[in-house]
Amino acid sequence: MQLPREVVIGDDILEFTSDLCKRFGFCESAFVVTGPHTRHIAGRRVIDLLEDAGIDVNYIIVSSSTEKNVEAVEGKIKELKPQVVLGIGGGTKIDVAKLSSARQGVPFISVPTAVSHDGIASPFCSLKGMNKPYSIMAQSPMAIVADTKIIVQAPPHFAASGCGDIVAKLTAIRDWRLAHNVRKEYYGEYAASLALMSVRLVLKSVDMIKLGMEEGLRVLLEALISCGVAMSIAGSSRPCSGSEHLFSHALDLIAPKAAMHGQQCSVGTIMMAYLHKMDWKYIKEKLQKVGAPTTAEELRIEPEHIIRALMRARRIRPERYTILKEKKLSRDSAKKLAKATGVINRLM
Ligand SMILES: [Zn+2]
Repeated sequence: MQLPREVVIGDDILEFTSDLCKRFGFCESAFVVTGPHTRHIAGRRVIDLLEDAGIDVNYIIVSSSTEKNVEAVEGKIKELKPQVVLGIGGGTKIDVAKLSSARQGVPFISVPTAVSHDGIASPFCSLKGMNKPYSIMAQSPMAIVADTKIIVQAPPHFAASGCGDIVAKLTAIRDWRLAHNVRKEYYGEYAASLALMSVRLVLKSVDMIKLGMEEGLRVLLEALISCGVAMSIAGSSRPCSGSEHLFSHALDLIAPKAAMHGQQCSVGTIMMAYLHKMDWKYIKEKLQKVGAPTTAEELRIEPEHIIRALMRARRIRPERYTILKEKKLSRDSAKKLAKATGVINRLM
């Protein structure tokens, strides 16, 4: 079980990054992965802080989480041999930093600038354009530095997306339990409870999250970190990723322009909750309240791509038993499902 050793959360705490690195013994060199935009939000400042502390810093700007970018970062790690890799930004930069550092056997520190998904603390990452469009094992961050002063400034759809990724745990846990009952798959009560507790706390805070209040975003941040820890405890992404994630991965492959991960999971959760005979209307209401997309239109994805993704989802990860294996959606039943939950227009 790999868990983060230190989690620093607070208002204006970015400056602790250099102390943290030194305490871990990373006093000589560091490599920073950041983005064209997040470089100005936090990347540059962290680089300056580390340099002021006498650490030799090199950096790279990446804009997407592709195998090519991971290889480019790996090349830099091989050449520069840094003691630690820091991923500073949203999902993409953290994923690229996490996987490249894991492959090169270098510790990794996660510095999220938004609360859009649970990859900020999990040992998993997902790359675009891979033959496996779902998450793969990388490594758990050694530490997480989350500055709420930066996080509150991110556009609201990031937090709404984070809520979608959290609410997804409701159907993910149902799928996990189903796999346990039908296939005798290992089911970890502790990891499942931890993920469910995160959903409960986030649902209680949707009003504050919607308003972009620091208190609400902190709940969401802690929930996303707890979910990352739940995956570490389970040793798989099971407690956090079920049929709703398979739907999102299928959309990534099918839709010409995919939406954010958590936004797609938001819509997926509503439909998978319907298949599980859960209270999908309550879930939808909460997601609407927080401003997460609940329809194809809000995702800006064609209804046809939603239907095709629903049909494709069960084949994305054949070994993962979910409700989709039981329901085996055809074009007709997929369309009915999307209509019944209001994801696509009933008149279509
Ligand atoms: Zn997710």
